[in-house]
Amino acid sequence: MAEPLRHAPWEAEVVDATTESPGIVTLRLRATDRAIRAAYRFRPGQFNMLYLFGVGEVPISISSDPDDPETLAHTVRGVGRVTNKLVTLAPGDRVGLRGPFGSSWPLARAEGRDVLVVTGGLGCAPVVSVIDYIMARRQDFGHLTILQGVKHSQDLIWRSRYAAWEREPDTEVGLAANVAGENWPGHQGLVTELFDRYPLDPAATETMMCGPEPMMRAAAEDLTGRGFDPGSIWLSMERNMHCAVARCGHCQLGPHFVCRDGPVFPYGRIGELLAVKGL
Ligand SMILES: Cc1cc2nc3c(=O)[nH]c(=O)nc-3n(C[C@H](O)[C@H](O)[C@H](O)COP(=O)(O)OP(=O)(O)OC[C@H]3O[C@@H](n4cnc5c(N)ncnc54)[C@H](O)[C@@H]3O)c2cc1C
Repeated sequence: MAEPLRHAPWEAEVVDATTESPGIVTLRLRATDRAIRAAYRFRPGQFNMLYLFGVGEVPISISSDPDDPETLAHTVRGVGRVTNKLVTLAPGDRVGLRGPFGSSWPLARAEGRDVLVVTGGLGCAPVVSVIDYIMARRQDFGHLTILQGVKHSQDLIWRSRYAAWEREPDTEVGLAANVAGENWPGHQGLVTELFDRYPLDPAATETMMCGPEPMMRAAAEDLTGRGFDPGSIWLSMERNMHCAVARCGHCQLGPHFVCRDGPVFPYGRIGELLAVKGL
């Protein structure tokens, strides 16, 4: 059943649409076919292709809990042709969906270790499922540090989630905004400037990050300079993508197809490629 779920879009119904901030909406989707609902499984870090008839198809990360694979959350920022339409959907509307695709976060490897999550902008969506996963199995993981950067403090979505995560045991949350408005509780500046404020142990930590590529590169370089192993720093890459099955080449990064070999890669595997201009 798994392969057919990836090749042709199947119908899913919007069961809920929540506006997170202007232009950013979380859609909760459910397959209309009961057999598909029963067969579908995903791992945190994977993505689906969402299809709107007559408009187009886009890759969007799954931000919900893998223990509830019947209702799939996707947080979408309207930036263009397809996403601007997706953010207008309402309960009862239908989309095409195929997936899940790609690699996932190294959760088995991270068991018993500290976890550092670094995100920029809407980069938080792909790691929400990983944070929820760790929270549901808190005793299996060490110290959890969640660092989120945004351009402007008003861009921060899920404020209440950050506040709830911060109240969890052995968990710290750091927020940074390049431009901080009034009552901003976090740091004014880059997310990487938060690294000095938290007790990070390079040898004991798996780092998971997503966000704009320049931000991830800067953060990964900074962390390796602090003694973090490039093989324990994981990046979720959001490259332009069309087929999702390693055929069209749109998402190619050197020898890697981001749709098939990623989107989650260890920095040790792609760091040099990221430094190549235009690749
Ligand atoms: C693995 C993966 C996971 C993703 N997860 C999410 C998510 O959870 N939420 C979300 O809102 N978006 C996510 N994206 C990005 C999303 O797929 C793009 O925003 C979308 O494809 C844009 O399509 P469009 O038709 O709306 O815009 P278009 O009309 O195609 O383009 C609008 C603008 O966005 C640029 N653009 C197009 N595709 C991408 C891309 N992949 N990355 C960066 N810029 C792009 C174009 O160059 C153009 O400037 C993800 C992308 C990938 C590859």
